[in-house]
Amino acid sequence: MEALAYLFVYSLLLSLLRSSITLDTITPSQPIRDGDTLVSADRSFQLGFFSPASSKSRYMGIWYLVSSEIVVWVANRDTPLNDHLGVLRITYEGVLVLLNSTNSTVWSSNTSRTPEIPVAQLLDTGNLVVKDGNFDDPGNFLWQSFDHPCDTLLPEMKLGKNLVTGLERFLSSWKSIEDPAQGVFSVRIDPRGLPQFVVMEGAAIKYRVGPWNGLTFSGNPALRPNPIFNYTFVLNENEVYYENSLLNSSVFSRFVLNPSGIAERFTWIDRTHSWQRFLAGQLDQCENYGFCGAYTTCNPNNSPICACFEGFEPKSERNWNSNDWSDGCVRRTPLECNDGDGFLKWTKLKLPDTSSSWYNKTTNLKECGGLCLKNCSCTAYSNLDVRGEGSGCLLWFGSLTDIRVFSEGGQELYLKLAKSELDRIEKKKQPSKIKQASIIGSVILVTGIIILGVIAYIRKNRLHSKGMSKRIDKKDWDNEGWNEDMELPTFDLTAIANATDNFSSNNKLGEGGFGPVYKGTLDGQVIAVKRLSKNSGQGSKEFKNEVQSIARLQHRNLVKLLGCCIQEDEKMLVYEYMPNKSLDFFIFDQTKSKLLDWLTRMNIIGGIARGLLYLHEDSRLRIIHRDLKASNILLDNNMNPKISDFGLARSFGGDEVECMTNRIVGTYGYMSPEYAVHGQYSIKSDVFSFGVLVLEIVSGKKNRGFCDPDHNLNLLGHAWRLWVEDRPMGLVDESVGESISQSEVLRCIQVGLLCVQHNPEDRPNMSSVLLMLSSESLLHKPRQPGFYTDSRRTDYSSSEHATYSANEISTTSFGPR
Ligand code: AMP
Repeated sequence: MEALAYLFVYSLLLSLLRSSITLDTITPSQPIRDGDTLVSADRSFQLGFFSPASSKSRYMGIWYLVSSEIVVWVANRDTPLNDHLGVLRITYEGVLVLLNSTNSTVWSSNTSRTPEIPVAQLLDTGNLVVKDGNFDDPGNFLWQSFDHPCDTLLPEMKLGKNLVTGLERFLSSWKSIEDPAQGVFSVRIDPRGLPQFVVMEGAAIKYRVGPWNGLTFSGNPALRPNPIFNYTFVLNENEVYYENSLLNSSVFSRFVLNPSGIAERFTWIDRTHSWQRFLAGQLDQCENYGFCGAYTTCNPNNSPICACFEGFEPKSERNWNSNDWSDGCVRRTPLECNDGDGFLKWTKLKLPDTSSSWYNKTTNLKECGGLCLKNCSCTAYSNLDVRGEGSGCLLWFGSLTDIRVFSEGGQELYLKLAKSELDRIEKKKQPSKIKQASIIGSVILVTGIIILGVIAYIRKNRLHSKGMSKRIDKKDWDNEGWNEDMELPTFDLTAIANATDNFSSNNKLGEGGFGPVYKGTLDGQVIAVKRLSKNSGQGSKEFKNEVQSIARLQHRNLVKLLGCCIQEDEKMLVYEYMPNKSLDFFIFDQTKSKLLDWLTRMNIIGGIARGLLYLHEDSRLRIIHRDLKASNILLDNNMNPKISDFGLARSFGGDEVECMTNRIVGTYGYMSPEYAVHGQYSIKSDVFSFGVLVLEIVSGKKNRGFCDPDHNLNLLGHAWRLWVEDRPMGLVDESVGESISQSEVLRCIQVGLLCVQHNPEDRPNMSSVLLMLSSESLLHKPRQPGFYTDSRRTDYSSSEHATYSANEISTTSFGPR
């Protein structure tokens, strides 16, 4: 026993004393010990022993040389070593074995044959292969790690199933950031019916990306040709798989399934030495598998988001009306089979679950419909491939589930209904004869008016119909407050109506103080159109203010105003489109907040700070935003923040630093005390709102929604209490996940608290904020925040403020001057 202990200590000492080595290959005479590494020829990837996060267990894995914390593959994920004495060897039979300190095998590969010269090598793709001498043809590899993925899909790796050998390659999540053991989530190609891409939780589908339609996955029209990688989907009698490859091999890109079951793509940005995330999947409720039940469509822009297909009705009226849609819908009229049935065409859909479908590549659409009519249990059909005119045939049998409506893209589906039901639907759509006559009359009248209007308009403005730059004429509006020098492109009303599909509700992005905001496409550019609501008296003034405030401002962290449209009684602002909506949409939502890791949150905080600094100090005029809040921070494709909504902004000239108003505007929860109580605003009132935002981003909680149960504090009070009690990390949102940097988090909390100090003079200006966020210098100790006490009873009490806007909509009230 003593001898054994001695041997153990001796070998431990030996392993600590020997210097680590870097290898190109592993051979039977050259194993790898803990501390040694194997690198790929191009030095992209490295293999060795590691411990994830704060875990003490040792694993053998592969990581990026530029970013060693990103492990892309783990050998012994379920059988960790508990010391630094592990050794990876290759046997003369060509089998990789991982041995522990007592020489027992904790993990091994397998092999199809015995090689003459067994060699293991890490390829430039990140694939660990066992080969025979210098036979580098992939067909001759005896084993490869790409056949046994963990949570990461690297370029050149196949995800799918070999239908001949049965080998299935799928991603499975880690249990946690500290434990690479196989978690509950997996990403795979489900080969039943027409194969489809799915995210599973255990044995149940969690999210269905859908079948391949020749161009993309039916449920992910966002997967499009891009400058980073291209992709292929192969489906034949031997195999079905998805694969992507890099267009430029010096770029790193990975698709990973995180421990929370969210699949994301990251690309390495050399300049910033960080990973940039491209969002993937699961952004709204409609992405939850079968959320609305059978024979329904899910549309996140509608309320309620679930609807029965026409010809169907809720299975349980009671459940349906209480927003429990899981029972789905049932036919109003049973199918008659054969000639008694027909089809209703739907467009812009994510196709239903294809696990009980049948497909054929050569049958055309017409024949496809015929086949469906002949089979009584066929419920719908569509094209298999949407390229060109469309080709192939896809038939569904049984109920149709997990269908959503897209505002852009999506596919056609022909749904089988009884003829009598089709007649009823047709009749409902057909206007009566009188109606028809009056519609024709109206069309003629309206066309006449439009033609006259267009002639008058052309005469008056001598402008072409689309976005030409012209000076906004005072007469275009009214006499109030237009800056005559202001030049801003104007857009024609018809062009905007066309761009937004006539302000269709499908294109509605949201609703703010001005009125609704619509998505549109104008001359190939995706735009967001803010349409001033006709019954918004207050909005008209703010509309002008917004134009005046940002027409000339240009900064990467301010939303870009492309132009406006002032025609007839319509007033509209046209912006660049921000695909990820606003920050509140993410940070206050339990699921979506998981998409904001620490790096992203830091990037958002820094971006808002830079945008605000530009407004306060670097733009021509000193601009105070006065309504900075999470819903006014829009996010672009890469989650970069852009400050928006300048309806309440004020500009200061020359040396002006502070102003008073008796019209208190803004949003409770973000308003500084001196502004809410005395109507005093300055750049420091924006700094206060920025501080609230920082604490909201760190904590994932709304200042005004949050109430500390034990102390009745709002978020500022809660953050202050944790700070005073020396446990500030208690504020951090659990969804931040693995990537957290404690020192950065603490710095952000401290900066946030400095910004929300009661006294405006104590608050830093935005240039100091940026300096504090980006350096490691010592920071001042924050003093007690303003409005920190009771979440329901703030420390101002004038009756004018007694009515809060419950839904965080900007509010106006009159306070003391
Ligand atoms: P607002 O009137 O600026 O408060 O906008 C109302 C809502 O419309 C916002 O919360 C966003 O969800 C959406 N929205 C506004 N502007 C844009 C834009 N440029 N791109 C995308 N969505 C936008």
